[in-house]
Amino acid sequence: MSPAKAPAPVAAPTIDVVEAIRTKRDGGVLSDEQVDALVAGYSSGAIPDYQMSSLLMAICWRGMTEAETLRLTQAMVASGDVLDPASQLGRRIVDKHSTGGVGDKTSLALAPIVAACGVPMGKMSGRGLGHTGGTLDKLEAIPGFTVELDEQRFVDQVRSVGVAIAGQTGDLVPADKALYALRDVTGTVESIPLIAASIMSKKLASGANAIVLDVKVGSGAFMKELDDARLLADEMIAIGRGAGREVHVLITDMSKPLGHAVGNALEIREIVELLHDRGPADLRELVFTAAGLLLSLSDLDIDEAEGRRRAEEAVATGTALAKWNEWVRAQGGDPDAALEFAPVEHTVLAHEGGVVAELDALTVGLAAMRLGAGRRTKDDAVDHAVGIELQANVGDRVAAGDPLLTIYARDDVAAHEAATAVLERTRIATGGDAARRAERGQSVIIERRS
Ligand code: URA
Repeated sequence: MSPAKAPAPVAAPTIDVVEAIRTKRDGGVLSDEQVDALVAGYSSGAIPDYQMSSLLMAICWRGMTEAETLRLTQAMVASGDVLDPASQLGRRIVDKHSTGGVGDKTSLALAPIVAACGVPMGKMSGRGLGHTGGTLDKLEAIPGFTVELDEQRFVDQVRSVGVAIAGQTGDLVPADKALYALRDVTGTVESIPLIAASIMSKKLASGANAIVLDVKVGSGAFMKELDDARLLADEMIAIGRGAGREVHVLITDMSKPLGHAVGNALEIREIVELLHDRGPADLRELVFTAAGLLLSLSDLDIDEAEGRRRAEEAVATGTALAKWNEWVRAQGGDPDAALEFAPVEHTVLAHEGGVVAELDALTVGLAAMRLGAGRRTKDDAVDHAVGIELQANVGDRVAAGDPLLTIYARDDVAAHEAATAVLERTRIATGGDAARRAERGQSVIIERRS
């Protein structure tokens, strides 16, 4: 047995932490030195959880100035490794990030499309938690696919194939990991500057020159209200500007699920559908808009309209699908292997005709999570084969007896529970005016900011 290691000495914080907490409590502004010392002190263990919790709560109540938020982001970036893919690949690097939602598989469709247009996409992604799905979990629904790539393999694959999506390599923004875990158990996640710093620290550390952010708004999103989504968008744009990165934001609808598939294997099937130039209109609209924007921010020197045209052409001609197949094989997956779906398929029919006026994203996300598609806690295993497929989404007209949705479950009890939960928050508008209003709906892209 090896001898027990002596605990590493913990450096004393170089600032008066109580004074910093009082400053924020009273609505004051922290200096750059205070912010740096707070992040470094918490990362090293010199500042205990109880003091950092108190500071975070004061920030929740009092907010942060734009300058404080930028400094916090930069201090978090400095806590770990910083990647420089632009130098490694000799290309301008573009990245896309979503604040998370239900049925959001946009990045997975975008990556091969953008790569097929000649722009490399290497993304480090996360796993799902709660009602939102995670990109890595979705990819692991493909037989054989590995999301564990070391840094060299990741860079080599981006260079040779043009696409790689993997779990985090290296030690990127450890301060965010520690702070997020503390926020999660102290009721301090819901703070716009803290969310902005958390998201942007990871984007800055992974080295993208230009970033397209999809800020979701609605029941299934972090931001429930449009005004909050706008504030978050503007904070992240300001951080980008302060750090010399170009940031464009699409604020998009997450009051209903995106596309028709919610659940890992179901979402992979929907991506392949899209790459065959089919698939739901809302997902196509978001994917082609984001692709056009990303290509216009790349080193191709084209505008957004031309970017969108090339993205649509890549899908129409099959080059994006070929890139998907190449990418899946490069990460050990078999793009031709059958995906596994759960044995119980329970289809719910519309009781009456009309227009679907409500299909609540949060309810669908939670129902999918309870079926096993997502995690309640970080350590839960995910069942890739379960989920919910919508045959109609908000704005679609249905006749009585038409299929509304299909639940994929391991047993009948789970299927019925999921169906009951979703139907409680599903509404079909039957009256003429109400149905017409619902049918008009709203576009998935609510607003752009940059
Ligand atoms: N996503 C993040 O990465 N961080 C937050 O604080 C919230 C959402």
